[in-house]
Amino acid sequence: MRAEGVRVPLVDLGPQHEPIVADLEAAWRTVLASGRFIGGPEVERFEEQWASYCGVKHAAGVANGTDALLLTIRALGIGAGDEVIVPANTFVATAEAVVLAGATPRFVDVDPKSLVVTSATIEPALGPRTAAVIVVHLYGHTPDMDDVLQLTTRANVALIEDAAQAHGATWNGKPAGSFGVAGCFSFYPAKNLGAIGDGGAVVSNDASLIEKIRIFGDHGRSIEDRGTHREVGTNSRLDALQAALLTVKLGHLDEWTASRRTIAATYRSRLAEIDVAMVEGDSASESAYHLLVVRLDRRDDVRLRLAQRGIETGIHYPVPCHKQVPYKGYGEGTLPVAEHAAGEILSLPFFPHMTDDAVDEVIVALEHETAKTT
Ligand SMILES: *Cc1c(COP(=O)(O)O)cnc(C)c1O
Repeated sequence: MRAEGVRVPLVDLGPQHEPIVADLEAAWRTVLASGRFIGGPEVERFEEQWASYCGVKHAAGVANGTDALLLTIRALGIGAGDEVIVPANTFVATAEAVVLAGATPRFVDVDPKSLVVTSATIEPALGPRTAAVIVVHLYGHTPDMDDVLQLTTRANVALIEDAAQAHGATWNGKPAGSFGVAGCFSFYPAKNLGAIGDGGAVVSNDASLIEKIRIFGDHGRSIEDRGTHREVGTNSRLDALQAALLTVKLGHLDEWTASRRTIAATYRSRLAEIDVAMVEGDSASESAYHLLVVRLDRRDDVRLRLAQRGIETGIHYPVPCHKQVPYKGYGEGTLPVAEHAAGEILSLPFFPHMTDDAVDEVIVALEHETAKTT
C-alpha cells in the first residue's frame, strides 16, 4: 500500500508476492495441517536449503537477525572483557548484539568508496582484548574478503559476517556468509529474502557452533534430555510457518537478485549522466544490492524536494552507531569517513520489480533537484 502522494515508493513488496500468493497459501495450509509449529520438517528443510544456498554445511534458524548475531557471539564464548570490532555505520543491531552478549563493541571506520570495513580499517583496532571482528556487508556489498580473512587469521580472532543485507551476494564467486566462522542472516520482510514476519539464521561449517546456537536458542535445553537445562539460554527459534514461507520465496531469490543487479546497472548509467555518485562495493564483490545508495551534497534539501515530487527515499543510516546515545561511551574519538558519509548518503527507490519508467522518474527528479541546489 502506498502512502498518499507517493509516486515512487522506496520499497514495494506487493509485486514480489503477487505471483506467488497461491504457493504461499499452500505452504501455510501445509503447516496448519501438520500441527508442527515450532521446529519439525519445514524448519529442517529450510535450514538445509539455506546452508546449501550459502555454500556451507549447516544452518540454524533463529527468531531474527539480531539473535543470529547475539547467539553466535555467545556460542563463541565471547563476553565480558572481550572486544568485538564493529563498523561505525551499520544498523544498530550489530552493536546491540555485542553489548547484549556482555562484550564491548570497538567501532571502526570504513572505506570511503564502498562504506564497508576493510582489512585496512580493521587492523589499527586489533588489540589484546579483540575476540572477534564483525564484517557487515552493508547494502549487499562485500569488502576484499581474502584480505580480511588473512588479517583475522593472522591475529587469531573470529570473523563473523553480518550478512543481513547480503543474501545471494558473492565475493570472487563465494557467497557472503561463507567466509567467516559464521554468517548471520535476517529474514525481516524488507530484506532480500524476507519472511512474512521476523526470522533469522546462522550458517557455518562448524557443526558444534551450530549445535551450541540451537541449544542457546532453546532455553539451554539438553539435546538428549529435554527436561535438563545445562545453561541459561533464551527462546529464539525460526517458526515452522516462516520456514515454509521462506522455502517458497527462496525458489525466487536468484531471479530477484538478478533483477536487482539489472536495475542497479540501469541506475549506474543514468546516475553517471547526471553526475551523481553511487556507492559501490569492492571490484570482486557481486553485490546483492539490498539498497541503492547515492551520495549528495545538501542531501537533506534534495531529499525534501524529492518527497514533494512523490519520490520516497531513505537514509541508511543517519547517525553512526558510535554517536547514538547508548553506544557513545564505547566510541571514543571520531571516525571521519563514516561521520561524513552519514550526512551525504541517500537511499533511492529500489526493489526487484521496479520498472524502468519508475527509475526514469527518479532520475529526472534528481537531475532537476540537484541542479537547483548546487
Ligand atoms: C536488519 C539487520 C539486522 C537485524 O536483523 P533483524 O532481523 O531485524 O533483527 C542486523 N544487521 C544488519 C546490517 C541489518 O540490516
